[in-house]
Amino acid sequence: MFDWLIVGAGFAGSVLAERIASQRNESILLIDRRSHIGGNAYDCYNDAGILIHQYGPHIFHTNAQSIVDYLSQFTAWRPYEHRVLSKVDGQLLPIPINLDTINRLYGLDLTSEQLEQFFVSRRETVEEIRTAEDVVVSTVGRELYEKFFRGYTRKQWGIDPSQLNKSVTARVPTRTSRDDRYFNDTFQQMPAGGYTRMFQRMLQHPKIKVMLQTDYKDVQARIPFRRMIYTGPVDEYFDWSLGRLPYRSLRFEHVTLDREQFQPVAVVNYPQTQEYTRITEYKHLTGQKSPQTSLTYEYPTNIGDPYYPVPRAENEALYKRYEALAAAVADVWFVGRLATYRYYNMDQVVGQALATFARIQKSLPAISARQFEVAG
Ligand code: FAD
Ligand code: UDP
Repeated sequence: MFDWLIVGAGFAGSVLAERIASQRNESILLIDRRSHIGGNAYDCYNDAGILIHQYGPHIFHTNAQSIVDYLSQFTAWRPYEHRVLSKVDGQLLPIPINLDTINRLYGLDLTSEQLEQFFVSRRETVEEIRTAEDVVVSTVGRELYEKFFRGYTRKQWGIDPSQLNKSVTARVPTRTSRDDRYFNDTFQQMPAGGYTRMFQRMLQHPKIKVMLQTDYKDVQARIPFRRMIYTGPVDEYFDWSLGRLPYRSLRFEHVTLDREQFQPVAVVNYPQTQEYTRITEYKHLTGQKSPQTSLTYEYPTNIGDPYYPVPRAENEALYKRYEALAAAVADVWFVGRLATYRYYNMDQVVGQALATFARIQKSLPAISARQFEVAG
């Protein structure tokens, strides 16, 4: 009998496995239906010996020192500030939109103050900012929205930005400075040996047993356990009894080229042309040296593994109904991006898992063998 069954070996499941094993000394069976640990953050060396991210570019960034401290037990870090270019009107321009983006796009020589006025003259008044379209048109105006956001968002999500929650495009700031970093966070570094190495260290504990290529539905009746943490899609747990929650998927095309470099930065976005949304070149992220280079093209699709919850009101309403079902299941905790239907970054999932662990500590006395012997 395992004290815990943990479904999913991504950040949510692995952080909780590590905490429960090291702090409560309870036994854990951690399963994943994939053939590896790490969830969507999994990275591996390809045939050319280049470290790639199997599920697209994962860049670690956070403002939470406590999360850095926690993960630093399992990895050293390599400083990396993410920069992205967007192919717009035939040019490669910085995104988030900044002073250089506008000056180069329109052949201007504006100062930051003039750019602020430029935005003021172009932005639309939106009574209540609700949608992913509202956020952008009320900041930089419709023309820039159409060039940088509308096409990309339609491709990425399969729906128009006017149908998506404001939180989606609010992830991307607008700047009047020349700062061309993608993120604002105070901590922007990559795990020095890669994500998978970090996960291996987290899970290296005698109380944690990992079983891969194992689907929860196939083993739930056969594996005895006392409590469970579930990090898969919440609607799937309930056999879609209230209907399907939409999750957006991606098809990844991984290629390796016999040249040292393909593009000037790690990620180039394609908001106006191409069927793919972006191309990632990993050597920029990892600092690896090689005469070859590996890239990933991302093609959004509704078919395939669930990657993104789709933030819009009707989906959030359906999720609330699943959340109510989940709250009523005794001894099961639902954690992570798929199980709580939240468009979370890695650091937010680590934070959510650590907060869940704190709640477990508060509400559950450690399972001692004696207690269960007495209970029968
Ligand atoms: P997951 O990583 O999805 O792990 C869940 C695991 O559960 C999976 O491995 C799955 O196989 C397993 N599972 C599900 N159901 C079952 C079942 N029935 N039985 C067994 N196993 C099951 N975040 C950032 O901070 N920075 C980034 O740059 C970034 N880039 C991203 C790029 C892409 C393309 C994507 C898709 C996400 C990106 N993220 C990024 C988000 C990041 O991937 C997530 O925040 C994080 O991986 C979520 O961890 P998780 O444990 O909740 O879920
Ligand atoms: N987005 C866009 N154009 C861009 C970059 C982002 O329209 O060049 C929109 C798009 O809807 C995207 C969202 O902003 O899904 C959030 O971007 P982010 O880079 O955070 O997406 P992720 O890395 O999670 O895929």
